[in-house]
Amino acid sequence: MNEPKWKLETNCVQAGYQPKNGEPRMIPIVQSTTFKYDSSAEMGKLFDLEASGYFYTRLQNPTNDYVAAKIAALEGGSAAMLTSSGQAASFFSVFNLCQAGDHVVASATIYGGTYNLFNVTMRKMGIAFTFVDPDCSDEELEAAFRPNTKAVFGETIANPALVVLDIERFANAAHAHGVPLIIDNTFATPVNCRPIEWGADIVIHSTTKYMDGHDAGVGGCIVDSGKFDWMAHADKYPGLCTPDESYHGITYAERFGKEGAYITKATAQLMRDLGSIPAPMNAFLLNLGLESLHVRMPRHCENAMKVAQFLQNHPQVSWVNYPGLEGNRYYERAKKYMPGGTCGVVSFGVKGGRAAAETFMGHLKLAMIATHVADAHTCVLHPASSTHRQLSDEELIAAGVAPDLIRFSVGIENGEDIIADIAQALDALR
Ligand SMILES: *Cc1c(COP(=O)(O)O)cnc(C)c1O
Repeated sequence: MNEPKWKLETNCVQAGYQPKNGEPRMIPIVQSTTFKYDSSAEMGKLFDLEASGYFYTRLQNPTNDYVAAKIAALEGGSAAMLTSSGQAASFFSVFNLCQAGDHVVASATIYGGTYNLFNVTMRKMGIAFTFVDPDCSDEELEAAFRPNTKAVFGETIANPALVVLDIERFANAAHAHGVPLIIDNTFATPVNCRPIEWGADIVIHSTTKYMDGHDAGVGGCIVDSGKFDWMAHADKYPGLCTPDESYHGITYAERFGKEGAYITKATAQLMRDLGSIPAPMNAFLLNLGLESLHVRMPRHCENAMKVAQFLQNHPQVSWVNYPGLEGNRYYERAKKYMPGGTCGVVSFGVKGGRAAAETFMGHLKLAMIATHVADAHTCVLHPASSTHRQLSDEELIAAGVAPDLIRFSVGIENGEDIIADIAQALDALR
């Protein structure tokens, strides 16, 4: 990307699209499925990937590309693509490297949707996964690798477990086996953590969360660091390092180098065949969110810290989990990877278990009950009485969800208002 070297805050506002003389200041919404050419020969060059340009929005669209370029700048990557959801980003990020018979090592505490995608749907495609405790010993991590391992996958801050990953350790282990580390950086955002600086090779996002930040659009993004040397491990990555017969015999790693091969292949092959492009309008809305991401994240963290501290000292609260809180199991690791703050999500338990948690939920007035997290509006979920209500207390505990667990996503409203809402709902438990 040939843009000036700006700091993160400037990139949030300005990166990805610079209008020329007389052009609109806002990213234009190119709501067009197709693009017109003067000759078939010119269009042919695009199909052969000899010239860059647009021909059909299922593969690429200028609005989407402006926004992807901004996210690449925020993460310090070489190239990026938007996807229609975070799920699509997770799927593409792995499937761009793997085929039936391959294997992936993943952290066991990843987001439930990603876990199902890997453990159920991608297993059906013949891709095997080994899930490791993110705090396992070096020996256990080492033992998870197989000769056919093609990638390692983890989350900066796991949703909803709030486990902070030791990114450097996982990157070193991946690289020792000649495979890339893929990091889902949804909860931290590039404002709080840039995994590429710690050795991650590919970063993905559910942009539905803080990046959009306003409950407006589902979306995802994949960013390539441009650092992984595919050709040095050509035997492992035939999809990148041998000719793609479905694309006129192009070898992506040769033609586009370390910086471009991965995203070009994901666009030319996966978007072409699986079609998970976001609507340009949604990319436009995502960009509005990105323009204030650096202002919103510190407020989320500041409010979440106040909420966590309030909960910690409250007699009706049995436990609090927030990685930014001193004494938390991940406090030191969070300080290393996210010195400016972690995220706005706090989980806690109330005395009286499942029934007390339900009572608490029923008394909230400001916090909205929603399956969503990581949003400007404070939102809250009690899995035992909603998403996981069919499970008994014993089954919940086996699934790693305490019956009293409340996942509280602290928004950017006035912190005292949020705490007052929690306080009055906790009073109902006395
Ligand atoms: C929500 C979420 C996803 C899935 O994203 P969608 O946009 O809902 O498809 C993936 N990873 C994490 C960490 C998430 O929180």
